Amino acid sequence: MSATQPTFTLNANTAISAVGFGTYLISDEDAETAVSTAIEVGYRHIDTASGYQNEVTVGAGIKKGLQGAGIGRKDLFVTAKLWPGNLAWGDAPKTGAQTIEECEASLARLGLDYVDLYLIHAPYGGDMRLEQWRALLEIQKSGKARSVGVSNFNQQHLEEIEAAGLPMPDANQIELHPWSQKPDLIAYMAENGIAPIAYSSLVPLSTWRVEEGQDSAKTDQMKADGSAFATMAANYNVSEAQLLLKWGVQNRYAVLPKSLNPDRMRQNLNLFSFIIDDVDMARMATMDRGEGVAWASGDPSK
Ligand code: NDP
Repeated sequence: MSATQPTFTLNANTAISAVGFGTYLISDEDAETAVSTAIEVGYRHIDTASGYQNEVTVGAGIKKGLQGAGIGRKDLFVTAKLWPGNLAWGDAPKTGAQTIEECEASLARLGLDYVDLYLIHAPYGGDMRLEQWRALLEIQKSGKARSVGVSNFNQQHLEEIEAAGLPMPDANQIELHPWSQKPDLIAYMAENGIAPIAYSSLVPLSTWRVEEGQDSAKTDQMKADGSAFATMAANYNVSEAQLLLKWGVQNRYAVLPKSLNPDRMRQNLNLFSFIIDDVDMARMATMDRGEGVAWASGDPSK
């Protein structure tokens, strides 16, 4: 792991680097260069998913980045995600056996022997949800994932695992930023040793997913209301993006900024020369607007 990056514990043998590189909405054309550049500028954590449909080119970027940075596979933390299926979209939920096959297919596409974290991408498995979770525990036992977890699970979905008497996930990757703080879910996760991983930390930025087709449920009111973060960031002499990412890290959430721009990649990694003071953290704690906006089709936990 990069010496300058704090890590957060996932289980007895696994820690996650605080700042990861997100790969959603990176095209096959851009992915190899984006991922290798990210590793070369210092990222030691890459967040992928079969649902992003770029695993082959992300895998090529990982290989090139490791060579370019002169580091080994063990120095990089890689997350992959199972697409669980979704009956509501006419996509049959994966069985346990299919879950294991899917993990192996992702490893083959990424060109890796194991991942550091394997997640169920969303709680869409319906009747298969627990079977999918049992399959992840098998995958962990086989050594193909060093830690296992879920994403977009709400408290009810986590309680389903608890009620079945199964080991709880090491992590739950969810949308977390000052406008979507999920305090009840975070408290339940803390009680149960489930590490939060924050995605879409940069939602409040005016530059967040602005291109055609990069859908979100961000309201016009949200779009008009970014100035509080800009003012606060200026006081620390950092960018709004750095402030929003530091908010996550200071709450002990790993964060996953995505950028195709090498200067922004560096900036998003450079979060450790300042600390948000208690007054500003308390102010940001009052800015919660409830559910997230990154899944335009609605709350993925429903
Ligand atoms: P981010 O919160 O990382 O924001 C990315 C957007 O912000 C892009 O438009 C990017 O543009 C812009 N940006 C990045 N850095 C800066 C900066 N320093 N200054 C100004 N603008 C900036 O968005 P994502 O929604 O992609 O979330 C990050 C990652 O989290 C994903 O890539 C994915 O890995 C994961 N994720 C997981 C989900 C899940 O369901 N588990 C759902 C959504 C995301 P540019 O590229 O031009 O710099």
